[in-house]
Amino acid sequence: MASQNSDDSSASIFVKNPTIKFTKLFINGEFVDSISGKTFETIDPRTGEVIAKIAEGDKEDVDLAVKAARQAFDHGTWPRLPGSERGRIMMKFADLIEENAEELAALETIDGGKLFSMNKAMDIPQAASSLRYYAGAADKIHGEVLKMSRELHGYTLQEPIGVVGHIIPWNFPSIMFSVKVSPALAAGCTMVVKPAEQTPLTALFYAHLAKLAGIPNGVLNVVSGLGSTAGSAISSHMDIDVVSFTGSTEVGRKILQAAAASNLKVVSLELGGKSPLIIFDDADVDMAADLALFGILYNKGEICVASSRVYVQEGIYEELVKKLVEKAKAWVVGDPFDPKVQQGPQVDKKQFEKILSYIEQGKGEGATLLTGGKPLGEKGYFIEPTIFAEVKEEMLIAKDEIFGPVMALAKFKTIEEAIKRANNTRYGLAAGIVTKDLNVANTVSRSIRAGTIWINCYFAFDNDIPFGGYKMSGFGKDFGLEALHKYLQVKSVVTPLYNTPWL
Ligand code: NAD
Repeated sequence: MASQNSDDSSASIFVKNPTIKFTKLFINGEFVDSISGKTFETIDPRTGEVIAKIAEGDKEDVDLAVKAARQAFDHGTWPRLPGSERGRIMMKFADLIEENAEELAALETIDGGKLFSMNKAMDIPQAASSLRYYAGAADKIHGEVLKMSRELHGYTLQEPIGVVGHIIPWNFPSIMFSVKVSPALAAGCTMVVKPAEQTPLTALFYAHLAKLAGIPNGVLNVVSGLGSTAGSAISSHMDIDVVSFTGSTEVGRKILQAAAASNLKVVSLELGGKSPLIIFDDADVDMAADLALFGILYNKGEICVASSRVYVQEGIYEELVKKLVEKAKAWVVGDPFDPKVQQGPQVDKKQFEKILSYIEQGKGEGATLLTGGKPLGEKGYFIEPTIFAEVKEEMLIAKDEIFGPVMALAKFKTIEEAIKRANNTRYGLAAGIVTKDLNVANTVSRSIRAGTIWINCYFAFDNDIPFGGYKMSGFGKDFGLEALHKYLQVKSVVTPLYNTPWL
C-alpha cells in the first residue's frame, strides 16, 4: 500500500493548495456573513487540519434566503422566462463550471478527501453535464390535452412548484449540488441549497458561477450551516414548497416529520443503502472480483450505492475470494492528489471512527477478517480496504450502512437463496448481478426490491437513468426526466364545449 505522503503527484503546487475564495452565505445574489456572525470550521481529512472558517447560517439566515427565493419566484423573471432562455443561461453556467474544473476538483479534494483525478475527470464534468441535460429539457416541459367523456375541453399545465429547499450530503458535493439544482432550475423554481457542513466549499463556488452565468438574484441561494439548525430550518419552513434531501435514513425521517408538522411540503428522500452484489458461478472471476472491489472501495466506500454485501455462488467462491484479497492488498491508499492512489482519507474523524468501530463489531460478531481492518498512517483519516468473510445475515456489518471501505462476503447455493438474502434488508437502493445467463439476470433483476439494478456492471449512472430508492432508501427520483416531476405540479384546466362535432 502506498504511503499517504507520496510526493509523486501530477497536480501542480497551485492546484494542491487552492485559494479558498468563497466562505460566506450566498443570499439574493450577494455573499454575506451570517446574521449571528458565527462560523464553523471545515477540515482537510488528509491531516485533520482546519482549512477554512465558513459562515454558519441559522434559522434567521434561512428565513432571509427563503424570502429572496419567494420574491424571485412570485415576482421575478426566472419562472416566467421561456424555457429556452432558462436553458441558455444554464448552458452558460455549465461552461463556467468546466472553465474552473481544476480549481473545483482541488477544492473537492482538500475538503472531502476525494481523488483529485476522479473529481477532474468525473465529478466536476458531471456537474456541468447535468446542467446541460436539464437545460435541454427546459423548453420541453408541457402538459397534455385530455380525452374527456362529455362536452368538456380539458388540458393540463406543468407549473414550477415554487421555492425548493435542497439539503445535500458530503460524499459527492458537486454531483449532488448539480443533480438537485439543475432540474429545479429547468422547471423554473427558485431555491435554497444547504451543503453538508463537512464539504461546503464547492457549493459556494457554484453560487458565484451561477451569478456570472446570469441566474437572477434570489433564484439560487446557498446557506452553509449545520443540519440541526440550518437544515431543520429548511425542512420546517412554512414558505418552502418542496424539500429535496439526500442523506441518511435517520435524518430523512426527521425531515418528513418536520414537513408534516409545518406546511405539509412535498418531500423527496434519497437515503442510505446496503446494496447486494450477486456473483453467479458462470461469471468471469477476474472481472467479478474487479467489480466487487470497485463497488465497495470507490470513493472510499462513502457512496450510498456501495456494494457492501457480496454474495458469491459456491462453485467459484474460493477462487473469487483469493482474487479479491490479492486485489485488495494491491489497492493503493494515500494522498488523493497522487494519480497512482485509488483511495483517499475518509471525510472526517467522526466517519473514520464510525467505520473502525464497525470493523471491531465485525470481529466481535465472529466474521472472518480476510484483509485490512486497520487505520493507515500517522495523521488523517485513512483506512485499509477491509474484507470480512462468513458474514451472517444477523450480524450488524451485514445490516447497517457502514459508509466505508468494508465488504461483507457470503456464500450461496441457489438463485432462490441469493434473491432471498439480497432482499433481506430494510434498504432498497441498488443491486448488482454478475452472470452470463440472461434468464438468471432477468429473474433476479425483477425479484430484487431496489431502485437500480446493474447487470455485469456497477455504478453505471447516466443523466437519463432515474435514480432513487425502494423501502427505507427513500422515495422520489434524481437524474433522468423523472426528476423534473418533483419540481413541477400539474394543474388541470377545464372549459365547456358547445356544439362540438366530436369529443
Ligand atoms: P446526514 O443525513 O447526516 O446529512 C445530510 C445532510 O442533512 C447534511 O447537509 C446535513 O447537514 C443535513 N442534516 C443533518 N441533520 C439534519 C436535520 N435534523 N434536519 C435537516 N437537515 C439535516 O448524512 P451524511 O452523513 O451527510 O451522508 C451520508 C448518508 O447519506 C448516508 O446514509 C448515505 O447513504 C446517504 N446518501 C444517499 C444518497 C442517495 O442518493 N440515496 C447519496 C449520497 C449519500
